[in-house]
Amino acid sequence: MSMPPLASGPEGSDALRPLLATVLDALDAGARSRGGPLPAGGPHTVAAHVREALGDPLPEHGDPDALHTLVRTLAAGAADPAHPLCAAHLHCPPLAVATAADLAVSALNPSLDSWDQAPAASELETLLTQALAAEIYGHPNPAPPTGPTPAPKGPTPTLNDLTAPTTRRRPATVPTPPADALVTTGGTEANHLALLLARETHGPALRLVCGANAHHSLPRAAWLLGLPEPVILPTPTGVLDPATLHHTLTTRPGPHLVAATAGTTDAGLIDPLPALAALCHTHGARLHIDAAYGGGLLFSDRRRSLLTGLEAAHTVTLDLHKLGWQPVAAGLLAVRDPHDLTALHHHADYLNADDDTEAGLPDLLGRSLRTTRRPDALKIAVTLKTLGRSGLGALVDRVCDHARQLADLITAHPGLELHAPPTLSTVLFRPAHATDNAVADIRRRLLIHGHAVLGRARLDGRLWLKTTLLNPHTRPADLTALLRLVEGNTPA
Ligand SMILES: *Cc1c(COP(=O)(O)O)cnc(C)c1O
Repeated sequence: MSMPPLASGPEGSDALRPLLATVLDALDAGARSRGGPLPAGGPHTVAAHVREALGDPLPEHGDPDALHTLVRTLAAGAADPAHPLCAAHLHCPPLAVATAADLAVSALNPSLDSWDQAPAASELETLLTQALAAEIYGHPNPAPPTGPTPAPKGPTPTLNDLTAPTTRRRPATVPTPPADALVTTGGTEANHLALLLARETHGPALRLVCGANAHHSLPRAAWLLGLPEPVILPTPTGVLDPATLHHTLTTRPGPHLVAATAGTTDAGLIDPLPALAALCHTHGARLHIDAAYGGGLLFSDRRRSLLTGLEAAHTVTLDLHKLGWQPVAAGLLAVRDPHDLTALHHHADYLNADDDTEAGLPDLLGRSLRTTRRPDALKIAVTLKTLGRSGLGALVDRVCDHARQLADLITAHPGLELHAPPTLSTVLFRPAHATDNAVADIRRRLLIHGHAVLGRARLDGRLWLKTTLLNPHTRPADLTALLRLVEGNTPA
């Protein structure tokens, strides 16, 4: 066999072009053979198709059709978030432009653990993360310079100036250190980092306090970091109750890290952020806000005010592979005080030797716990610049409006019960008078027949069907079709 071509270099584009045509053809063929939001037949059928297409995963001699065969198989067996009846999870259909940018990243393959592997990508990430942090925490004053940055940007080099006593004496003329953000693989890694930074500030006795509505990755991160057993507060209304938090902060020994949620995974609800932030301030507790889902509201003029209080958090989790329409992965942890990031500073001579850093090579290693790291910043930057705030905000508004429309249809339907009017793009409902088992059966039947992908959520002691609407192209007829499918699969 001749040498397989490379994705970059002088022949890169010529090598990729026919392969891309193959991929696009296989994606189309696979989707056509699927014919719905997910493959019919359930796990055994799908597994058999995959086993047959794959054959020997490590054959002695290669197969030139492997790309077409496997891409087609994966597409045929996909749960396609771009299908309007695939609406279970925070699993978004990625924008074409973001996916195209991601392809460029795959071709160039920069790695963000050192400047000499990612000269432009590292600067792009710096600018993007600063802009997104400023979106959450407000823009630094004075405005950052435009044009090329003369000095290298790392987590630590400029902080001495910024923390000098003059900072406090002359706040109007000396810039406060601007907020910063780290790119993560998603909400889970961002929450994990938030707990780590909090522990490095408050010590190993730090106790996580969160609601039963919080994402499972938060208590898991506490476990992973060896922190004391978290306090999980009951959330009978779906959101954290300030009075309950007040009681905990006054009766349980600290230090505390309170984790609030802006956009719960099950119901899309937003904790009362201003009241919780005020309590944390009063009791000296650190505040993390998990806005993995709801953070997208920042781009919507109509809905941004739902996030009031977000800026009070020490750290904020954001997931642009949810309400940001990015291919996985596109997470972010924003940090109000960039000093917190010095805890991640790390030295490995081959990546950030002191003399290299002193000579002006940016030190990137403290921007993540990972070493080799893909520049997910490119697809995000391309998306923000292509659509602009208004374009992205319009997508957020569209899916939230879809949720309202679906809720109205459910309310008007005598056979269905709506859990609550939606805040974000999640709608929970169930056939009136159905048992929990019947609700679970409906969901599984729709999955196995390949008719629809709906989620499930247990709230108020009952099981609900969950629709998470993230497809801006969904039409009203799709929403009616979804309800008709549920109706048609409800036992009499
Ligand atoms: C999705 C989600 C997470 C986890 O994010 P991943 O990107 O799946 O790691 C964390 N918190 C909330 C509220 C979420 O909805």
